[in-house]
Amino acid sequence: MEAKVEYHSCNETDGFCEALQKRMNIVGHHGKGIVPVMVMTKSYTDMKTVGAMYKESAKDRGLMFNHCPWCGESLRWFDKKESEQVDAKGDK
Ligand SMILES: [Zn+2]
Repeated sequence: MEAKVEYHSCNETDGFCEALQKRMNIVGHHGKGIVPVMVMTKSYTDMKTVGAMYKESAKDRGLMFNHCPWCGESLRWFDKKESEQVDAKGDK
């Protein structure tokens, strides 16, 4: 048994909290349930997790969570980051 990682709430650096992570489906899951929302980074080199959404069925486009239902932290990592990235990436 590995030492248990210290519990953390959802945050952009460490990702989702344990409660949410356990209930989340893997990337590419096509049924209903909670799935992570990933976007391509500005540089198109990487996928970045920007939040989580709930899908009612395979056809549902999903609804973003504003906050984690368990720890209550904001899951909207996306809006903030987007604007920060645009600012920061002024490129000399
Ligand atoms: Zn959480």
